[in-house]
Amino acid sequence: MKFVVRLALGGIAVGLAVLGLKYAAYVLTGSVALYSDALESIVNVATAVTTFLAVRLSAMPPDANHPYGHHKVEYLSAVVEGVLIGIAALAILRKAYLGYLEPRPLDAPMLGLALNGLASAVNALWCFTLFRYGKRARSPALVADAKHLLTDVITSAGVLAGVALVAMTGVLVLDALIAALVALHILWWGWQLMRQSIGGLMDEAVSKEMLEKIRKAISTEAQGAIEAHDLRTRHAGRTTFIEFHLVVPGTMTVAESHAICDRVEAALKEDLPHAVITIHVEPEEKAKLEGVPVV
Ligand code: ZN
Ligand code: ZN
Repeated sequence: MKFVVRLALGGIAVGLAVLGLKYAAYVLTGSVALYSDALESIVNVATAVTTFLAVRLSAMPPDANHPYGHHKVEYLSAVVEGVLIGIAALAILRKAYLGYLEPRPLDAPMLGLALNGLASAVNALWCFTLFRYGKRARSPALVADAKHLLTDVITSAGVLAGVALVAMTGVLVLDALIAALVALHILWWGWQLMRQSIGGLMDEAVSKEMLEKIRKAISTEAQGAIEAHDLRTRHAGRTTFIEFHLVVPGTMTVAESHAICDRVEAALKEDLPHAVITIHVEPEEKAKLEGVPVV
């Protein structure tokens, strides 16, 4: 098994272990804040699953059934996760509201804090490992995972401090307030995840800056051609699909126009090494006098 795949699988295992420890901490104390922290771990398990899909399934080469590749599996799973995350956040908000109406003292706060602290330490250690090896393996998915874990370790530290404060001061309502804050944080994450993935599923175009770069590369590298039009772009995972019509003088040979196409493709791949480029060559009477003029 490839190293990145093993790391991604390890992420799922660590996520489940942390979820178990944090849930146990909640059951021992009855703290709503610790409950919210436990449910937040579901987000981690979900992101670990997406990472696994990204490095395993999505990276599978195109085959006869899926000639454009398998990248969209990442988006699909991320949308499902976004829904799960939303449900987790609503469950926390409900419990936080009930806890706010009827605050109750924590049972065994020290043991609960210790268990939750242990889980956070495991998370921090795993986060460090992912950063190190994710960078070495040049896996954007693993590094993104590590970044998310880092924010999680920080929120967990906040939750721990808050619950310790509840135990020390006896201000019980604080417990529900912390939980509500965590729920809002989770909702925000879920929304980000969904927004990006829906963009990918709906074949959103590349960013304005990227489009400008593409237009510039075509305009400067296609010498000999007249114009490019009907430029369309979309993303699938880390692959960018670029297609356009290239208008050349009607008397140009196929070999010459192909050489232009190869030059433009090479220039585009400097910025987008994973780009898949399709160019349709046309004679000058097809010119639309719009799109990208060749300089
Ligand atoms: Zn055309
Ligand atoms: Zn060719």
